[in-house]
Amino acid sequence: MGGVTFDYMEEYLRELIPDHQGILKDLEEYAVENGVPIIQKETGRFLELMVSITKPKRILELGTAIGYSSILMSLASDKNSQILTIERDEDMVKRANENIDKLGFQNHINILQGDCLEVLEAMEGKFDMIFMDAGKGHYNHFLPHCLRLLHEDGIIIADNVLFRGMVASQDLVKRRKITIVKRMRTYLQMVSEDKDLITSVIPMGDGIAVTKRRKV
Ligand code: SAM
Repeated sequence: MGGVTFDYMEEYLRELIPDHQGILKDLEEYAVENGVPIIQKETGRFLELMVSITKPKRILELGTAIGYSSILMSLASDKNSQILTIERDEDMVKRANENIDKLGFQNHINILQGDCLEVLEAMEGKFDMIFMDAGKGHYNHFLPHCLRLLHEDGIIIADNVLFRGMVASQDLVKRRKITIVKRMRTYLQMVSEDKDLITSVIPMGDGIAVTKRRKV
């Protein structure tokens, strides 16, 4: 059990979603074979839906890995979104660039190599959507930068916020994950208690938090 929802529920929801074909299918298989962590099937479907509803012109992603979620979002936008994605692992960057090149998406997806916090600190400009999927123990540190970089009407989608259920239940917490869990709780408190923000936490996949600014 993933710890966020019941197995039977997860299996049922996944079965409802048609399998991808082409590059996304190939990348899913590569990820399984090589132990690369990519977004779960239902999280992918949720991202596709959010891109399709909000039509973001500029997307910032934290955590590229092999480029799977970037490519998925680019396809969902019909290549109308410009995606900037941050990854610190050199091999991942190389692999992701190969995948992006293979598709001819170089003009739509750009990778910034480096640590998310350092890159975020130096970044300027505004994004309509920010997808957090790297450095689970640092979402609370990324948040002020993400809010600074978020367009007035933009949304932040954070994955893994329930972290196998550990964030919601002390009984599930593994000792070596205590710091990540505490910081993730801090992140959820920050986005839930700030009166200028509105956040919904969805117990799907590994837990997704969607945040936007409240308008006054
Ligand atoms: N979003 C990707 C997808 O679904 O296709 C998966 C991203 S994977 C869960 C997280 C990635 O973030 C890993 O490739 C890891 O190397 C990278 N990462 C972790 N911490 C990071 C940090 N502080 N700065 C930059 N990259 C980081």
